Amino acid sequence: MNINNVDIYLRDQGIKPSYQRKRVLEHIIEHHDHPTVNQIYDALICEIPTLSKTTVYNTLNLFTLKKIVEIITIEGTETRYDLFNPKPHAHFKCDKCQIVYDIDLDFSKIANEDLKNYIVKDQYIHFIGICPSCSKKGIVQD
Ligand SMILES: [Zn+2]
Ligand SMILES: [Zn+2]
Repeated sequence: MNINNVDIYLRDQGIKPSYQRKRVLEHIIEHHDHPTVNQIYDALICEIPTLSKTTVYNTLNLFTLKKIVEIITIEGTETRYDLFNPKPHAHFKCDKCQIVYDIDLDFSKIANEDLKNYIVKDQYIHFIGICPSCSKKGIVQD
């Protein structure tokens, strides 16, 4: 999606497509690495010197409300943003490069007897470890 399409997309969602909002969304689309507010801010501040962390945060809140992005929390203190994906998927956070990857996982296969009488409204599965590209580099152990 380029910035012109992002413009149309945001209008379709009822969001006024300011330049900052467009760039934040574009960043998430281009870098599908589940960035934090700080990572998005750091990536855009050179290009948009008037940008503030509050703006990034408020923009992401708005996108979350509109179901354009969703929040993922892997470790309690760190909030990351993902493009909204109606298909449940798991995440894998690499200890070494700190990248969060999408993992295609069939959640229906893991529902067991124990869950039978519960109504599941949401489900999150996270793995933490070493990603293939870091383990290829031989950085397996601390
Ligand atoms: Zn890695
Ligand atoms: Zn994801």
